[in-house]
This record gives sequence, structure tokens and C-alpha cells, in this order.
Amino acid sequence: MRDITVLSGGMGGARFLQGLLHGIATGSLPGVAPDARVTVVANTADDIWVHGLKVCPDLDTVMYTLGDGIDLDRGWGRRDETWSTKDELAAYGVEPTWFGLGDRDVATHLVRTQMLDAGYPLSQVTEALCRRWLTTPDGPVVRLLPMTDDRVETHVAIADPESPSGRRVVHFQEYWIRLRAQVPAETLLFVGLEESSPGPGVIDAITDADLVVLPPSNPVVSLGTILGVPRVREAVAATRAPVVGLSPIVGDTHVRGMAEQMLTAIGVEVSAAAVGLHYGSRASGGVLDGWLVDERDADQVARVTDGGLACRAVPLMMSNHDATAAMAAAAIDLVTG
Ligand code: GDP
Ligand code: CA
Repeated sequence: MRDITVLSGGMGGARFLQGLLHGIATGSLPGVAPDARVTVVANTADDIWVHGLKVCPDLDTVMYTLGDGIDLDRGWGRRDETWSTKDELAAYGVEPTWFGLGDRDVATHLVRTQMLDAGYPLSQVTEALCRRWLTTPDGPVVRLLPMTDDRVETHVAIADPESPSGRRVVHFQEYWIRLRAQVPAETLLFVGLEESSPGPGVIDAITDADLVVLPPSNPVVSLGTILGVPRVREAVAATRAPVVGLSPIVGDTHVRGMAEQMLTAIGVEVSAAAVGLHYGSRASGGVLDGWLVDERDADQVARVTDGGLACRAVPLMMSNHDATAAMAAAAIDLVTG
């Protein structure tokens, strides 16, 4: 196979992509050509306007990670970052003060915002930014496509005793960064999602792929939103390519991030099997052919296969590129072997 399409959030998706590319480069993926091309359809529902700048956290995490510009310890933002701009803005007392706007990162947001103001759609802006990060003499490292060019934002309703309605709605970034996802999310609102259209190339990337992968990204606010763009879920359900997913839940908890809070908010049990069954088998109206769970969750395999999905338990910790490439190999083997 030559064309692999991966739907991706930020950190979980980006780490998986590093392993997948490593696997292609080292020839360790079964049936995958050495010149295989990877297309990434990235979540943009985390996007936020701050201080007049358009910030796209998941696009940037994928771009910086695969372009070797990421801060490895934080897992987001630029390496060797400084924070003078953020400090100066805080000194003026302007909100939001909680958003992590690094000085190097600001340059990316300035370029993006200026191009958007000039009338370019996000997809073309992303292509321009990727020219710096993801271009090699042999061609692009990956093709990075925003799920949509339209404005879509995830908002979270939380309890607020001081508000007359008893609740308050905050942007997803405020829930995650300022509130550290430590208060229960009562409802999730995907503003603009139903009216959005797939970004250029998104449907073709799914339809024409030889393999579609749902990496261990957040199933609700990363992959749930991508699949929620009209026609995307249908394209995944209908593609001739096998579709395989890897569980972001290991031993009944997310490894890092906040998949637990988001699954709870939509009423899905926090377990590897439940997430796989939430995506569902294509044979019964879902989006997957196969689902990998971690070896610690081997006792859940039967429950997944009963739901019509091929399933296997393998190590699913993305601790280094080799381990992650082995996950990608197992995923491919599950649906093609
Ligand atoms: P975000 O946009 O930065 O939150 O990143 P994603 O949505 O792409 O992925 C976040 C999810 O990745 C987390 O909620 C975890 O469940 C999952 N995750 C992170 N690290 C690992 C890992 O090593 N193994 C597995 N199986 N899942 C992981
Ligand atoms: Ca994200």
C-alpha cells in the first residue's frame, strides 16, 4: 500500500505519526511501500482566537512534532521557547492570561492570521506554514489537511453556582488549560460543526486511501469532531480502504490528556472496548474494521470482536519511535494480514 490517511488530534496523533513515519523509513510495516505517502486530516475544533491571533493547536502540534520544532517535554509549542510576549500582555492586564502564547509560536500565529485576513483559507495557510516545517528535498514529510476551512469550536458547559442558569460555557482551551479539566464537563457543544464543510482534499484523502488509521487520539474532541464534519464519517464508512483504530484508553484510563472527562461527558464508558464499540464496526454502521487494545486490556478483546470488529491486544504505549512503529505495524497487520 502506498497512500495512508490518518485522522489526528494533537499530541496523541502526532506521536503516532512519528512512529508511522519511522516504520515506513525502516521498512517495518507489513505491505507498506518504502515511498508510501501519509496524509493527515487534523482536528481544528480546538482552534481559538487569542489577542487577535488565530491559534490552531492540533495543526501546530502535528507540524512542529513532525518538523522537529516541538518542545519534547511539554509536547506542544516550540522548543527553546521564551514567554516575554505573554508576560507583557499579562502586565497590561489583558485577558486571557492563561493561554500559553510563546514568543516563537507567536510568529506562526502572526503569519497564519495575516494570511487569513488577506483572504486565504486555513488549508492554504497550513500548506504555506508546512513549507517551512514539512518539506524535504524528497517531497513533503506528510500532507497536512485541516478537517475544515470553516470556523468550528468545541465549547464545554460546566456547573457554575454563581450563574442564574447554574452553568457556564467556556471554550475548550479554557476548560483544558485554565480549569485543567478538573471540573466535570456537563455538555460539549461543537459550535459550527454541523454547518461546516470538509476542507479541500479531505474526502478524497479518505476515499482514495489504501489504509485509513484512527490513531490513539481523543475519541471525542479530536476524532469525534473530525468525524462530525458533514460527509467525513460517511467517507470513512464507505472507503474501499481498511480502517483501523488504536485505543487511547489503556487500563481504563487515558495515558495523558483528558479522554476520560470527554468520554464521561458523552456517556461512553472509559475503557478500550467501549471506545472501539463507540466508533463501531463498518459492517453495522460504524467507521472501523479493526481495533487494537493494549495488552493490559486483553480481557476486553472478546467484547470487541462480539461487536463485529477484528481486535487484538498489543503494547500500546508510545514510549519511543520503535514502540510506536510496532503499534502501527500491528494495526496494519490486523486489518490486512
Ligand atoms: P491532543 O489534541 O493534544 O489532546 O492529542 P490527541 O487527541 O491526538 O491525543 C490525546 C490522547 O492520546 C490522550 O487523551 C490519550 O488518551 C492518548 N495517548 C497519549 N499517549 C498515549 C500512549 O502512549 N498510548 C496510547 N494508547 N494513547 C495515548
Ligand atoms: Ca487537541
